[in-house]
Amino acid sequence: MVSISFIILGSLITTVLAQQQCVPYETTFNYSSYPTVWAVPSSNDTFNTAEFKQLNSSLDWSKVPKIAPRKLVNGSLDLANYSTSDPDCWWSYNLCTKPKATGLQADVSICPEPGTWGLTYDDGPNCSHTVFYDFLKGNNQKATMFFVGSNVANWPNEAQRALADGHHICVHTWSHQYMTTLTNEQALAELYYTKKIIKYVMGVTPLCWRPPFGDVDDRIRGIAQLLNLTTILWNLDTNDWNMVPAGTEQPAQIDALFQSFVDMGQNGTFATSGAIVLEHELNNGTMSKAVEWYPKIKSAYKYVVPIASCLNITHPYAETNITYPSFAEYINVPNNSSSVAKVPSPTNSNTQTDSPKPTTKSASVTIASYNSLISMMIAILTAQLFGSFF
Ligand SMILES: [Zn+2]
Repeated sequence: MVSISFIILGSLITTVLAQQQCVPYETTFNYSSYPTVWAVPSSNDTFNTAEFKQLNSSLDWSKVPKIAPRKLVNGSLDLANYSTSDPDCWWSYNLCTKPKATGLQADVSICPEPGTWGLTYDDGPNCSHTVFYDFLKGNNQKATMFFVGSNVANWPNEAQRALADGHHICVHTWSHQYMTTLTNEQALAELYYTKKIIKYVMGVTPLCWRPPFGDVDDRIRGIAQLLNLTTILWNLDTNDWNMVPAGTEQPAQIDALFQSFVDMGQNGTFATSGAIVLEHELNNGTMSKAVEWYPKIKSAYKYVVPIASCLNITHPYAETNITYPSFAEYINVPNNSSSVAKVPSPTNSNTQTDSPKPTTKSASVTIASYNSLISMMIAILTAQLFGSFF
């Protein structure tokens, strides 16, 4: 029988953990060679540096279609003045994913494996993601995380945890703009500095990216391709990003979408190929919805996998000594292809070889270690109390 002291201790620890989250760490990471956090890179910070000039001049810009940057009208893309023939394969206009220009790689928007849910979360790392990441870890579940460079700069320890937990890391730009509205220099810098900070903080160089809002055309695809980044979109959008209070849709509307996607897993919609599903590590609301629906998704789909495994990409980073499970390897790991696990059993085989040594000051390390300890205690206590994490 659970004693009352456990319950009191559990709530006490939860309170302490909540206070510890989202407290900026004092790190020795030096961001002097990066753009201003949450700002579009500009001549004020990066364009005039020797590093960026050298990068810019080293690229073959003839491979990038000459398309003028798009306009924003009242914060939205100006679609009205665009040709209905969609000459630039502009996703925002009609969801085009197969480039019209020659020499460009098509976007990835489906998981080729039948009956499979490709699990992706955008906009992290979120400073309050501890419980959410604990949940994924407790279910031995890996996902593809599309990280915003500015968030990696602000929350390096949270970013490092994603890699340590075996998640697949991709780029989601530096400051989360409509990429087709940016100049070539701005777009290049948005991608380049996000790749660079992920390498600096986490030790890996991503080979994939997702445009914020899905906003990509052949010019932006060309720039991404110069940086060896594959464009990954989605074929199911949960709209979680637009849930109140941050957005305008009620939780019931988001639930209805999730339910329809669960139904698709059972009615044959994905009998011949799978889904890539857009979800977000954006706020507590989106992370709670992800946790709430995960068991039903696991039941409705044969497999729930990160995109690297979905695509059988066993070397997801430029560092070729780092490996990732193929689809067959991933689904054969115990608990990955079965029902929701009730206790943490991190046994997946993402080989992490050259993540930088922690460079935090001792006080910060203490906080991180403390958080890990507290997280573990909460996991144990919660499992004892409720038999699962949520
Ligand atoms: Zn985003």
